[in-house]
Amino acid sequence: MPRDYYEVLGVAKDATSDEIKSAYRKLAKQYHPDVSQEAKETAEAKFKEISEAYEVLSDSEKRSIYDQYGHAGVNQQFSNGGFSWDDFTHYNDISDIFGDIFGSMFGGGRRQSRSANSPRSGESLRYDAEIDLSDVLNGKSIEVSVPHTSNCPDCHGTGGKDGNVHTCRQCGGTGQVQTVRRTAFGQMVSVDMCPTCRGSGSSFEERCPKCRGQGRVQKTTKVSVSIPKGVQDGSRLRVPGAGDAGYNGGPAGDLFVVVHVRPDSVFERDGVNLWTGVTTTYPRLVLGGSEEVRTLEGEKALLKIPAGTQVGSVLRIQGKGLPRPGGGIRGDLFVRVRIDVPSKVSELEKEYLRKLDEGAGGAAPKSTGTKSRIKKKLGV
Ligand SMILES: [Zn+2]
Ligand SMILES: [Zn+2]
Repeated sequence: MPRDYYEVLGVAKDATSDEIKSAYRKLAKQYHPDVSQEAKETAEAKFKEISEAYEVLSDSEKRSIYDQYGHAGVNQQFSNGGFSWDDFTHYNDISDIFGDIFGSMFGGGRRQSRSANSPRSGESLRYDAEIDLSDVLNGKSIEVSVPHTSNCPDCHGTGGKDGNVHTCRQCGGTGQVQTVRRTAFGQMVSVDMCPTCRGSGSSFEERCPKCRGQGRVQKTTKVSVSIPKGVQDGSRLRVPGAGDAGYNGGPAGDLFVVVHVRPDSVFERDGVNLWTGVTTTYPRLVLGGSEEVRTLEGEKALLKIPAGTQVGSVLRIQGKGLPRPGGGIRGDLFVRVRIDVPSKVSELEKEYLRKLDEGAGGAAPKSTGTKSRIKKKLGV
């Protein structure tokens, strides 16, 4: 069994994509086989492990599948049935990360970092939705008001008034500026984001009044999310493109709806099955009979009690549990049987119970009550 990906990267389950990225960068620098202090095989295995974890957790779709189904879920996602050494080298960020490794080690000589003004996707957002257990039965459509950033409609995201922009003069449109420093170890070149255009590569004479030159505005969009039947507590549903606006023409981030199922006072969930309880009588347990049980849909189902059922037995009503996420047969409703012991009974009931007890070979005294003792004294 492979290790938990979050554990591999040493991040929390709810880590942001930035946290995941920075954890990976740190580990990749430490274990890259070309630079690691460890034995080659150890470093390679370690590097593979962290790269695999990163490949899954940095991809919002794969991460969501992993969160729901674990390793089994994402392994199916890899085209050749598993992770291979070549897979990760195609990964977008790898040049970025290598740029980092080599950039800092060799004074920028092999730096291949993507330029700052290349398209980047916007931030993904999270919304926590609470639903009832009955919504798991039927599925539910919810409308979420999502506050997010959006490209400014007046300047089309450029930040210049009426969209008028020109190539940034400070960086020549690259979005980056280089600083050369002399140090004891030789020449160091550092590449930073251009302060004039903040990495966009373009600048303007007059800023757009609507967004004050930001190119982005805050807005709230109503997004319909359909929560599927059989949803698990803690599932993440992805709404592509409903997150923050992208940068430099990149795609918008996603919206993740995390589903929380409220605990129910009558039913307890166990996967696709439900548990509940029913109160019956001692005679019905002995002789057999039936009780009405309320199902999650609010209907009444007849529970058959076989003769000789013990207190605490669990009986099953088939098909009255929860639906499976992909469809198919519903789970079952398990009913735990209990009896109510009455604290007040009539004289007639007492008489029957005593006879019953005698019949069962018990030795209940016939005259324990004060009332019957008094009767005897009076000779009634
Ligand atoms: Zn604007
Ligand atoms: Zn610039």
